[in-house]
Amino acid sequence: MTTRMHDNSAFSEHIVDLVLDYSKRRLLADDIPIDRGSTERELQRLAGKTITADGIGTARALGLFEHVLAPACVTTEHPRNLAFIPSAPTKAAAAFDVVVSASSIFGGSWKEASGVVHAENETLAWLAKEFGFPETAGGVFVQGGTVGNLSALVAAREKAQRKNPNFTGRWKIICSKEAHSSIKSACHVMGAEAVLVPGDKNGKLRGDAVREALTEHGEAVCAVVATGGATNFGIVDAINEVAELKSEFDFWLHVDGAYGLAAALTDIRRDKFAGLEHADSAIVDPHKWLFSPYDACALIYRDPEEGRRAHTQKAEYLDVLTETVEFNPSDYAIQLTRRARGLPTWFSLAVYGTDAYREAISHSIELADRAAAEIKKRKELELVREPELSVVVFKRRGWKQEDYDRWSDELLADEVGFVVPSSFNGEPVLRFALINPRTTFEDLLLILDRLK
Ligand SMILES: *Cc1c(COP(=O)(O)O)cnc(C)c1O
Repeated sequence: MTTRMHDNSAFSEHIVDLVLDYSKRRLLADDIPIDRGSTERELQRLAGKTITADGIGTARALGLFEHVLAPACVTTEHPRNLAFIPSAPTKAAAAFDVVVSASSIFGGSWKEASGVVHAENETLAWLAKEFGFPETAGGVFVQGGTVGNLSALVAAREKAQRKNPNFTGRWKIICSKEAHSSIKSACHVMGAEAVLVPGDKNGKLRGDAVREALTEHGEAVCAVVATGGATNFGIVDAINEVAELKSEFDFWLHVDGAYGLAAALTDIRRDKFAGLEHADSAIVDPHKWLFSPYDACALIYRDPEEGRRAHTQKAEYLDVLTETVEFNPSDYAIQLTRRARGLPTWFSLAVYGTDAYREAISHSIELADRAAAEIKKRKELELVREPELSVVVFKRRGWKQEDYDRWSDELLADEVGFVVPSSFNGEPVLRFALINPRTTFEDLLLILDRLK
């Protein structure tokens, strides 16, 4: 069949030219407004019917994206987007994502993508080494921290089941009350029970509390999760205290470092992650603080064989792939077909080198400390807690929820910044999540001045 959707005609060239031209402009622009969401009705009105029997053509479809759809998306890499966990892909990583798409790589197996798997694995090996894991550690890039956590915990349960085949009760996973919602979600999906242990006064999971829970729940515990940088406050659990319990109890230690584990790459915060080297698995999201485009989570197992045992899919049509000794990324998580989503991170690390990463991550940590000092100086503001990594949480004295909401809406409406209220102990607070190296102290002053 001849199809103009698949040929190399002038029409195809025209499409590729327009799309790459737009991509180049977007990648190199540094004045993109912060933008904001729209309503379904407004988008209907502005975009109209875009999917038709004959197609609306390249210029119109791309124009609609550029002028209607894209402006209805918040610019996550804007230097004054400090909400949730924003993004800050390097130019190399973002640009290389285009190459990943251009190359139609099936990233699931060695047989089909050895070159790419090699590069992804070098990236994972570098991270594993930084985290103090043995040289035999390995894993895979998955979609995000949620899938990474779930995949690691399924491997943990698999191992517990193998060691204790007669156990018929419900498996339990111990984590801090402050643990990310994805851990509770993983328990739900697995039919396991989340045992939520209170943290200390700073919300940090401590060894004593975990010991108590391990003693109480005994052989039903298949894993303990320590958080390496909780999303709300950036608190790092006492990983070393939890790891020490491994000599008394038999459990799988998983470290959820989706946001914070990047800080373990820096000289100024590495010590907070002591004990990480004893973990059985860990995750970190390159799309958060490792400057990669959405979406990517690095999942690393101390012993990758545990991941393979839990996750290899068996099917006759796949035997040629799975019945080999080669390294197939699909075997290590809940997935089969996979985009080579670790490649943008690999390319960027290869281009700039690891020192540039350490420096860029350190920038946000130092900025958080500076922001905290500034907040303490301002009488109308109250710092809720000293930042541990790069999240700063504070209050505006005398304000209620509706004051915060209005202020936040106006900040975005005026296209100054994106900062959303959060809550702590039932009280509204404001939160800066600093991961963008382009965010300056002056950017923060601009926002803080609007709280006077
Ligand atoms: C963001 C985050 C997750 C979830 O990661 P996604 O990539 O959004 O799925 C899990 N744990 C922590 C600590 C996080 O910060």
